[in-house]
Amino acid sequence: LDSIQAQDSEVYHAIVKEQHRQLDKLELIASENIVSPAVQEAAGSVLTNKYAEGYPGKRYYGGCEHIDVVESLAIERAKKLFGGEHINVQPHSGAQANMAVYMAVLKPGDNVLGMDLSHGGHLTHGAKVNFSGLIYNSYFYGVRQSDKYLDYDQVRDMAKKHQPKLLVAGYSAYPRIIDFKIFREIADEVGAYLLVDMAHFAGLVAGGCYPSPVPHAHFVTTTTHKTLRGPRGGLIICSEEMSKKINSSIFPGIQGGPLCHIIAAKAVAFAEALRPEFQTYCRYVVKNIQELAKTLMSYGYDITTGGTENHLILLDLSKKDYTGKDAETALDKANITVNKNTVPYETRSPFVTSGIRLGSPALTSRGLKEQDMQKVAMTVLWHHWRRKSKPSVTAFRIFSSVRLRKQRRYNLLTAQKIE
Ligand code: PLP
Repeated sequence: LDSIQAQDSEVYHAIVKEQHRQLDKLELIASENIVSPAVQEAAGSVLTNKYAEGYPGKRYYGGCEHIDVVESLAIERAKKLFGGEHINVQPHSGAQANMAVYMAVLKPGDNVLGMDLSHGGHLTHGAKVNFSGLIYNSYFYGVRQSDKYLDYDQVRDMAKKHQPKLLVAGYSAYPRIIDFKIFREIADEVGAYLLVDMAHFAGLVAGGCYPSPVPHAHFVTTTTHKTLRGPRGGLIICSEEMSKKINSSIFPGIQGGPLCHIIAAKAVAFAEALRPEFQTYCRYVVKNIQELAKTLMSYGYDITTGGTENHLILLDLSKKDYTGKDAETALDKANITVNKNTVPYETRSPFVTSGIRLGSPALTSRGLKEQDMQKVAMTVLWHHWRRKSKPSVTAFRIFSSVRLRKQRRYNLLTAQKIE
């Protein structure tokens, strides 16, 4: 960072402080991860200087021969990871990947059926404050009140009633496997396209730890920066038949020039995800969060659905006299970063909430294993203890033992290897 330091001390200091924050705190935000030095280098490379509107071999600018190589590599590697006939690696984000699919198959005012935001869906699945709910007519399915599992009967009933042109599956805060086959059956019954947004679990699909939606869905979208451990960005998978529509929906539909440096970083991350170590990483992601869930439940905490099959859990505090917001603030004081989250059938406001979402991808990238997660669970309970008596010192000691030991063994920039 020498050049930044020399010419812009304000930005330099903010970056350094952020680096320390990432090093010193335990990152339990389920949608975050830590990229490898190679991915980071690609994202910070000279490719940021290049305009390359269009697609490999068909650009609107000269000098794109090297960008063509990079984008073709990203596409080939993504195909090896996920399968699929056509892949577009240009979406700047997950939201834009979803928007491109909506634009490709819907007209304004068409019906869309997605998962309710407060039950674990994403803003782009039809929320009224998002383009998906502003431009299109959105309806929502959710989870059962009894066990908080996805209610496929409700999905089918809603689909029959509202005849959506697009059915959206996928989530930001649901801890279980989705049955993509049932979703496709429902989509076929009502003549809808099926979009699976695998943003959260794409890495687990790549690592063989979660079923792939690709054989079932008309469109699969993802972010590349969550469990997949690439740069911030998006990706779309579809059939050859839909490829033209998807490509023109991204460019010139909703984007201009692609972010060539980010596409290079995606290519590097996809190559990493193709290695056997990534499968090991994914297995630990799941094991670690299951250990965290088990330990928290053994202390009487409610986890929605009673466990997890992916990389995240939702701690349900509705029976407690403190809120998700209180927990987020208290945990931050214990150097643990989480996000407050609504729980299904939430009674508190989205700014307060009755839950927190916890995820294992980032801590697993830093090399933590199951026994460490038990200690992390104890520190997560810090806010609980703090309120009852004052044994927070114990929690800090446990926390420090995990943190300091790990800091010695893992540097943020070299933190990739599990074994
Ligand atoms: N889809 C899902 C399921 C997500 O969880 C997210 C982000 O959290 C997105 C899409 C949007 O991704 P981005 O923030 O890159 O626009």
